[in-house]
Amino acid sequence: MNRQRLPIGIAPGRAYKGTWWDMVELCLRHGFIGVEFKHELPFILPDRWSPALVHRIAEVQREEGLWISVHGPYTNIGSLLPHRWQAAVDEHLRALEWAEEMEARTYTVHPGWVEKKYADPDLLARCRENTIQALERMVEHGGQVAIGVENQNPAEGEKAKCGFTVPQLHGLVDGLNPVGFTLDVGHAQVLTGDPVQFFHALGPERIRAAHVHDNDGMADDHLPPGRGTIDWRAFLFAYLRHGCGFPLFLELAGSEDAFVAGRDFLIRLWAELKEPVSSGGTSDKETATEDPEVR
Ligand SMILES: [Zn+2]
Repeated sequence: MNRQRLPIGIAPGRAYKGTWWDMVELCLRHGFIGVEFKHELPFILPDRWSPALVHRIAEVQREEGLWISVHGPYTNIGSLLPHRWQAAVDEHLRALEWAEEMEARTYTVHPGWVEKKYADPDLLARCRENTIQALERMVEHGGQVAIGVENQNPAEGEKAKCGFTVPQLHGLVDGLNPVGFTLDVGHAQVLTGDPVQFFHALGPERIRAAHVHDNDGMADDHLPPGRGTIDWRAFLFAYLRHGCGFPLFLELAGSEDAFVAGRDFLIRLWAELKEPVSSGGTSDKETATEDPEVR
């Protein structure tokens, strides 16, 4: 059983007021294990981003042993027009080059989508095929970085997405062995109300990283863990039970205080968990019976 320190990092949302460097400083100030950078606007605006910034981050990464992850651009890799698909993939390949430059360990990808107003099963099937082909290109190009396809928020605006349920996600990566998943715990809660069941169905061994944030099961609020209805104790128990070591990136839009509060909440629960098969306290037994693999 793996009882290491809980590896919590930060993945600031795009409303975060600061640069990638500000994120690194926040990370170091509070002892987070690393950062997931969104390779997207506004962070990659020319006045906020430069190759020199990336090289500075690479240096700190080596000195401090930070876990660097890159969240790929939000371009549509399921795009139905070849030239748009190519442009979307090219943006990912560029982001992957910078990820390698920083010696990033993980890389998150959003599957493609079709506009809801005209989506039908045939177009969604084509979108899925294009997403798989885009992932193939990324694998060819990806070097050492572990690619994870994210389970997306099922209910976002006018998009019909091709990857938010477990069968859809498996269908995207099953022929692409090195590709795994970025488990978004908040999105799993909105979709199913049971992120622990989602975690088991996805396959803990294929999860490369997680986005952790809370909500009430209705909307994708990206609240700090502990402020919504997710059963974090059950989630951490499952994480412990499977000897997982993938990083848990707090994906919050909020302030520095929100990152610290979310982290402290999870660490408190983690410290309370006992070995699942030990003689343990009552609360562990209760949690254990919720885990299908322990029954
Ligand atoms: Zn996410």
